[in-house]
Amino acid sequence: MKKTILLFIAFIFMQNSIAQTTYILCGKLIDTKSGNISAKKTILVKENKIIDVKDGYIMPKSGNLIDLRDKVVMPGLIDFHVHIEQEFTARTRIESYILNEADVAFNSVGFAKTTLLNGFTTVRDLGGTGVNISVRNAINNGKIPGPRVFTAGKSLATTGGHADPTNGSSRRLIGNPGPKEGVVNSVEDAKKAVRQRYKNGADCIKITATGGVLSVAKSGDNPQFTVEEIKAICDTAKDYGMHVAAHAHGDEGMQRAIIGGVKTIEHGTYMSDETMELMKKHDAYLVPTITAGKEVEEKAKIEGFYPDIVVPKALAVGPQIQGTFAKAYKKGVGIAFGTDAGVFAHGNNGKEFGFMVEAGMPAIETIQSATITNAKLLNMQNEIGQIEKGFFADIIAVNDDPIKDISTMENVVFVMKNGVVYKK
Ligand SMILES: [Zn+2]
Repeated sequence: MKKTILLFIAFIFMQNSIAQTTYILCGKLIDTKSGNISAKKTILVKENKIIDVKDGYIMPKSGNLIDLRDKVVMPGLIDFHVHIEQEFTARTRIESYILNEADVAFNSVGFAKTTLLNGFTTVRDLGGTGVNISVRNAINNGKIPGPRVFTAGKSLATTGGHADPTNGSSRRLIGNPGPKEGVVNSVEDAKKAVRQRYKNGADCIKITATGGVLSVAKSGDNPQFTVEEIKAICDTAKDYGMHVAAHAHGDEGMQRAIIGGVKTIEHGTYMSDETMELMKKHDAYLVPTITAGKEVEEKAKIEGFYPDIVVPKALAVGPQIQGTFAKAYKKGVGIAFGTDAGVFAHGNNGKEFGFMVEAGMPAIETIQSATITNAKLLNMQNEIGQIEKGFFADIIAVNDDPIKDISTMENVVFVMKNGVVYKK
């Protein structure tokens, strides 16, 4: 019996030593912590972890070699605002009535893969039907390729608010959605809705603190929650280790959200100077979504693409977002990289870097925003967002130096997530 146990232990040791080390030769390597870029480095990867980062090129005696000597290597990117279930087209509105959950799930498979292959190894999903929770699980279980997903499940709204799933529907179809469906109208509802999200398997909470562009409703910016409701949501979420993201275009709703305790403001379109100061005081971060703003402005010009009630909102809100971002950045508001992919085609997330640079943020800081900042907000600052010993092997590469040409971020040529190569 003893001998069998010893043999078993020896077998386990052998298995461990058999796991091969992969040597990744990096022409240039971006250190997201210091902001420095160094030449000629070798990353050693074993199973799903980075086990060392060495100076110079080290050729393996045995093991795998990945040659990125003519590339610029950096940690996998983190997009803090995507909708992995959906990609907005002129058919989206009708599809919400005809697609079943299984259809949504099959659509998500492609969106998740595209996101990963474009260098985004982690995303925060800010709302869908709830299928996004199953998508996360399927990715984590290795059934489909995709980024690490931290999902809000279904967003929370008030009646008629931006994420009320029955907005603009025939009265025959409206019913009476409540906390279970993500519609809340009191402090009690708010607590119940958060706990329901936890029960469903959400990782974080998303609220629609003001009106929004793409919902079938008149206002794109009015406040839609009371401070008390938002506070109840944030306090309850905290009990379950979840942070709260607030969609917000209008200033009043944004202020209520920040005072109520949300961690991130999504879009931030009409943010006043006073609210920017409030963001800093409460350590809240702005998630810019400039790409989505540009997209809705363009699509609103196409006859019939959006419902009539959406068009004036898209034309008013879309063009504002980049300017507000520029001002907030200059004022020292924390910036958490996020795009709202799903409002535009998944995989184009990298465009956001160019828009941020155009608005005055240095290229290296845009990359830091998409790595160390978002890792910290996920409480994963010691696991993702850097190429460091002990971190998950989430590693990507581009052809050119992004400091000289930021558009290279739109063309990711190598992707490793959790030690597995998905693109080379
Ligand atoms: Zn969104």
